Amino acid sequence: MHDRYDYDALVVGSGPNGLAAAITMAREGCTVLLLEAKNTVGGGMRSDELTLPGFVHDICSAIHPLALASPFFKELELDKKGLEWIFPPAALAHPLDDGSAALLQTSIEDTAQTLGQDKQRYIKLMYRLTGAMKGTINDLLAPVHFPRHPLAMLQFGWRALLPAATFARRWFQGDAARGLFAGISAHAIAPLEHWTTAAFGLLLGAAGHVNGWPLVKGGSQKLADALAAELRSLGGTIETSVSVTSLTQLPKARAVLFDLSPRQLDAIAADHLPASYRQCLQSHRHGPGAFKIDWALDGPIPWKAKECLDAATVHVGGTLSEIAASERAVWTGEHPERPFVLVVQQSLFDPSRVPAGKQSAWGYCHVPNGSTRDVKDRIENQIERFAPGFRERILARSVMSPREMEEYNPNYIGGDIAGGALDPWHLFVRPLGRWKPYATPLKGIYLCSASTPPGGGVHGMCGYHAARLALRERF
Ligand SMILES: Cc1cc2nc3c(=O)[nH]c(=O)nc-3n(C[C@H](O)[C@H](O)[C@H](O)COP(=O)(O)OP(=O)(O)OC[C@H]3O[C@@H](n4cnc5c(N)ncnc54)[C@H](O)[C@@H]3O)c2cc1C
Repeated sequence: MHDRYDYDALVVGSGPNGLAAAITMAREGCTVLLLEAKNTVGGGMRSDELTLPGFVHDICSAIHPLALASPFFKELELDKKGLEWIFPPAALAHPLDDGSAALLQTSIEDTAQTLGQDKQRYIKLMYRLTGAMKGTINDLLAPVHFPRHPLAMLQFGWRALLPAATFARRWFQGDAARGLFAGISAHAIAPLEHWTTAAFGLLLGAAGHVNGWPLVKGGSQKLADALAAELRSLGGTIETSVSVTSLTQLPKARAVLFDLSPRQLDAIAADHLPASYRQCLQSHRHGPGAFKIDWALDGPIPWKAKECLDAATVHVGGTLSEIAASERAVWTGEHPERPFVLVVQQSLFDPSRVPAGKQSAWGYCHVPNGSTRDVKDRIENQIERFAPGFRERILARSVMSPREMEEYNPNYIGGDIAGGALDPWHLFVRPLGRWKPYATPLKGIYLCSASTPPGGGVHGMCGYHAARLALRERF
């Protein structure tokens, strides 16, 4: 460490990207201080008793295909720090009104069996994609660059550029396969008629076969705790309950990495940043918000399609047309009567999260950014549609509107859980239209949150890439 500095590296915010940035620096021998506003670490990986005593709920993220695929997390032996993955028999269930359900399972053939007339087309598609995926995951979770495996990338390439609705209608014929693909693609949090939304359906779908969609035993918080333990074992220091509001309050460090939204960086560094860059930070666009509910339940959700009990994640929204209409409405500022709802039923596979004999569930739907409308009944009506009697099992619920989500974590502006709108341009060059997206005009100051490439989700790759840049530039 240089005498002029208190630390080599300072990281603000302990989400997956903040922790990844801190660990990356500490692994290179840097002295690291991580500052976190809340009294626990984890950002979008926290869990807590939100409803009743003994019911542990994931406050934000619940399902972790991206964490499992993350090349950076793979380098860490997090199992030695207490992390245990749970793989449900199926990654995802997608129920339909006729009482059937499409089921995304590890086996491509078993999945295809649930897709009726589209069986062979699904097998053909997924064999190609899963083969390609093994060679491309590092490319996919990196900033814009020329791919190391260009041919494998091409397997995704042309299809991934398409709107999800167009791809699903051209490639599949039945409601099951089209609905399954639409639900996965809706993780784009954008209209399924938008270019590149097919990428989400293809990538997350293929990930279901290659890695699975696991959850963390005991709650997502255990992943945060394992990362924090890794940082401490490398000599890093973590201070919680420190809300950073100004650059002047920070100890001196050679590199400072902010796991924060562009808007927060603008407020914190306002006096030091050039006006043009501040304009870029302020104009960072945010996508729709999320309205979330956690339920303590007296028993499992009574799905009409019993196969839904084999999957931790259930996509509740029906057909491609319905899901597309729901996402389109949200994008244009409306609240659909029948929203597309993402449900996770962790306790079915992890009884450690609930008292004996009880269950819990987690669910959210997209709503316009900053919405103040209560859509609790619409969410529960949708679940009731595919699981009659669901409401009778509810013991307690905890509701988080977009505004409450932003109060909980100022990175979720207007309830946007992805760090920015996921449109094609934004997706690749977020947040600032620069080819060196983590750097700022201030020497030694970096942005490393989900508002930088490769974007939202728990994978830590934004933090890792930002820290690598800081190491190159500052050490
Ligand atoms: C409801 C919901 C469901 C989700 N589901 C999933 C899922 O199933 N799978 C998945 O992969 N992803 C999911 N996500 C997305 C995922 O949680 C985020 O993309 C991810 O956490 C972003 O990580 P990050 O490190 O960039 O920031 P964050 O996780 O947001 O962490 C930022 C940290 O900075 C702290 N902080 C903020 N301001 C300050 C300040 N001024 N001073 C000090 N500290 C500060 C915050 O308290 C927080 O701890 C979900 C998110 C939400 C909200």
